[in-house]
Amino acid sequence: MSNYSIWVVAHEADAAAELVSGALCLSSNVNAVTFGGEAVAKAAQAQGALTVLSVNAIDTPATDVSAMGTPATDVSAVGTSGPDNTLKNCLPENHSKALAKLLQERNSKLTIFSATATGRLMAGMVASHLGTSAYNAASITINDDTPVITSMVYGGCAIATRRLLSSQAVITVGAGVLGAVLPESQEPQASALSAALPESQEPQASALSSALPEAAESELALSEPQASGSIEQIDLSVNDNAAVVLEVKPRKTESVNLAAAKRVIGVGRGFAAKEDLELAFNLASKLDAELACSRPITESENWMARERYIGVSGVVVKPELYIALGISGQIQHMVGVNQAKTIIAINKDKNAPVFKQADYGIVGDIYEVLPVLTSALS
Ligand SMILES: Cc1cc2nc3c(=O)[nH]c(=O)nc-3n(C[C@H](O)[C@H](O)[C@H](O)COP(=O)(O)OP(=O)(O)OC[C@H]3O[C@@H](n4cnc5c(N)ncnc54)[C@H](O)[C@@H]3O)c2cc1C
Repeated sequence: MSNYSIWVVAHEADAAAELVSGALCLSSNVNAVTFGGEAVAKAAQAQGALTVLSVNAIDTPATDVSAMGTPATDVSAVGTSGPDNTLKNCLPENHSKALAKLLQERNSKLTIFSATATGRLMAGMVASHLGTSAYNAASITINDDTPVITSMVYGGCAIATRRLLSSQAVITVGAGVLGAVLPESQEPQASALSAALPESQEPQASALSSALPEAAESELALSEPQASGSIEQIDLSVNDNAAVVLEVKPRKTESVNLAAAKRVIGVGRGFAAKEDLELAFNLASKLDAELACSRPITESENWMARERYIGVSGVVVKPELYIALGISGQIQHMVGVNQAKTIIAINKDKNAPVFKQADYGIVGDIYEVLPVLTSALS
């Protein structure tokens, strides 16, 4: 097992757990900086981080956010997450320099952030303070003491493989990319984290899920990780008041964990109106499935929350079953589902690209097929 120095930076407990457990597949030397209070720090510790530095409240004196009333529900979007609101006035613009210095002092060779809005912003800033660049990784391995990552480029039409030669590399990873909890005894030879890549393009020692028998995998997910690392409270000095919070507004967010769903139904532009999504809701409730969508359904139509779109710029899912309804199957969407065990597509165009990746396909009109399918399941 490599002893490569990895630090993860997390703002939420789920992300802390996923990043730490995933990073432990690469190295035994995994540590964390957490924002957002005790719960986040404990999640990182519980997954096996050696040292957890839990950042105390950061106040930007120029603005008193408490005077603005209750913090927003989407506080993470402005870097203010945390169950106890300790970081309600915490902006990456103001503390990224201090964070970069901390990571340098602690000799982080690879720093991993979640690819959330805050994580990406912070990663870019920290990287620039470290004199390097931040990359979004769809997979990562450590080869000869050097991180090697793959990333989608040209809107997902190609995959770039990069060796990160900087002495302090910085990456972001999307939800679901580092999804496994793996004890040392069962780690694959050359650790590689599960990737949102077409099978043929996966790195050599690829996805953990394929390296393990099914039963072992589910046991692992349930097994209690070791919590032997230490938690230290730290202050990050705020030197650069580059930005202040002027206003905090609630945003409607949906709490959905598509990455953990066993069955997912994706809806696409084949639906002509928002009301018609009821056909998909009905099928989802019969199958106990989560509903997801292609990007236009969120970004152009605004029919579903951003948290529900799948793909290169959305969420990566690994369900047992994915059903694509009226989705053409463009690469940018399919990279988010190609780790599904079974893919079923329903599309009225027999030449739709989605059929090339589907295990089963129905060439037909969703408006005719769905009522029949749903009633057959009743
Ligand atoms: C940089 C970049 C990043 C992107 N990232 C993402 C991403 O992360 N996720 C994502 O999803 N997209 C992403 N896209 C967009 C992507 O390229 C596609 O445009 C999008 O996925 C298409 O969505 P769709 O399949 O719902 O719509 P369309 O491509 O319009 O397909 C609709 C399909 O529905 C079928 N259909 C129509 N009516 C019916 C009916 N009555 N019954 C059955 N079938 C029917 C049609 O035959 C067609 O195949 C990205 C694009 C770019 C450039």
